Amino acid sequence: MRRMLCTLAVLIAASLCTLPAVLAATDDPIYRFHPGIHFSRKQCLTNHERRFILAELQSITAFDLRTDEDGNLTFTDDHPVGGSNSARELIRAAIRSNDSFTIAATNHSNTVAFAQLESILRYDDGTGNKHEDWQIRIDFADFEELQGDKQALASFGPGFGVLHELVHAVVNYPDPLTESDQLGSCERYLNSIRAELGLPQRLIYYPMRQLAVSRETQLPTFLGKLVFGWPEAIGRERKKIFVTFNLDRVCETRFRSSSSIGAATYLSSEIKSGKTTVLE
Ligand SMILES: [Zn+2]
Repeated sequence: MRRMLCTLAVLIAASLCTLPAVLAATDDPIYRFHPGIHFSRKQCLTNHERRFILAELQSITAFDLRTDEDGNLTFTDDHPVGGSNSARELIRAAIRSNDSFTIAATNHSNTVAFAQLESILRYDDGTGNKHEDWQIRIDFADFEELQGDKQALASFGPGFGVLHELVHAVVNYPDPLTESDQLGSCERYLNSIRAELGLPQRLIYYPMRQLAVSRETQLPTFLGKLVFGWPEAIGRERKKIFVTFNLDRVCETRFRSSSSIGAATYLSSEIKSGKTTVLE
């Protein structure tokens, strides 16, 4: 029965899909018609990366999260204590949805800044149900570039990268759409999760650009600077904290030659210039 449905789905998908040829080599057809969250078998996370991201998601949700032998993410919904209820609802909604979400490692990618989401296939399964095959790409090498305040770093790890992309796919909230919106609905949703966890909130979506001198090469280099802060206390100025990263290594030069079309990233392909200063 399942095989018949899958065959039918393949036929329908073949007529609907707009899968770019360039992506065909890296997708995971094994997960294509299987709703839920999975770990890629083609762009595998190392054991360390998989354990790290599971530990982060577990700490954020307080779910007992595991992967089964087929690479599917499962959770035990047994009265979790602590964690973020909004994050639990998001994970629950993704796993119980019609869609497939594949988490792939794309370290040192030319087109991914921290994390990226792309829907590579939409199809109708023949019973009237619509499905999407989402790829969530995580560049762990980019996260290793981050330096700065410890709690701000906890608000911007790979686990939050996965959740950011799930908010786009499941809740359909966008990044900033207008000049007047500094943050965007997607990160506002993530901030509600950070608030539940007592973590600092992301204040602006676009990183500021800052000129610094590289300790390794002694040459001028641009840093990307992400701004976080605690909820505003009445009558007090909001305390801001920062994380920085080498802009060239993470994104700036890479996006000049980006060929990825229609993919959204955790950071942005567009960097806004901030105040330029020279760091000692
Ligand atoms: Zn985004």
